[in-house]
Amino acid sequence: THFGFQSVPEALKESMVGGVFSSVSSSYDVMNDAMSLGIHRLWKNHFVSTVLDPRGGINCLDVAGGTGDIALRILDHARTAHADRETRVSMLDINADMLREGMVRCKRESMYWGTDQLGFQLGNAERLGERMVVPPPTSKKAIYRQLPELKSEPVPDSSVDLYTIAFGIRNCTHIDQVLKEAYRVLKPGGVFGCLEFGKVGNPYFAELYRQYSFRILPSLGHLLASDSASYQYLVESIERFPSQPDFAQMIREAGFCTPGVGQGSQIIEEAGLGQEY
Ligand code: SAM
Repeated sequence: THFGFQSVPEALKESMVGGVFSSVSSSYDVMNDAMSLGIHRLWKNHFVSTVLDPRGGINCLDVAGGTGDIALRILDHARTAHADRETRVSMLDINADMLREGMVRCKRESMYWGTDQLGFQLGNAERLGERMVVPPPTSKKAIYRQLPELKSEPVPDSSVDLYTIAFGIRNCTHIDQVLKEAYRVLKPGGVFGCLEFGKVGNPYFAELYRQYSFRILPSLGHLLASDSASYQYLVESIERFPSQPDFAQMIREAGFCTPGVGQGSQIIEEAGLGQEY
């Protein structure tokens, strides 16, 4: 369960990450609340209200969309804050189990199910131009049989107004490739928004956080989802992710810039959030 991204072959790492998310898919939403004491909801609300264009009627691609936390927030925020029922979100994830959980949730809980405002796509953030083979569900849940077939279509160049990726990029093998693909699919002037864990600056708080993440989180995973290994992986992936300034530099190297802010990104340094370009 303790694998280093750099030391495993790429295909193996992708399948390991796939295994982790298949294993956590059914408990993912409960665990997010338990691990963050519900705070992830505030981060996500803040993120969506920061990146969403108030003009409305835009094409969004939510990469590593998981069970739909960001996609649903985008559509809710567009509707409630901007009276916008034209904005569309395509949720893309490499893991069919996570997407199917997302479909079940959207079907049960949202008004967007079955409308052209919301779509689901199997795909790899590192290769958005490629189709993936859609695997059958790993769970035999009856509700999965009522879902439409998952699709996997290439994302064309310059087709997206807003690209979001929340708590997803650190799971990818080549972050630079993800950023390059984001740049390719965004229209000129489009927005790249990334929400991700950053490094904790204060050394006392950093140690507290370390203890919490290495000792308490895997135990919580064991208690609530009978799966400490996957949650251990999640903790380790956060540890390995670049610091905020390093990640900001990678974003700039992919060609992005922030209008009016010059080469630095205020948003990144301020909140550890990903950015607008
Ligand atoms: N964005 C959602 C959220 O904020 O709740 C889900 C985040 S979840 C921690 C990470 C997601 O990234 C998982 O659903 C996983 O399947 C997906 N993922 C991992 N590697 C990926 C890749 N290369 N391309 C697309 N999705 C990927």
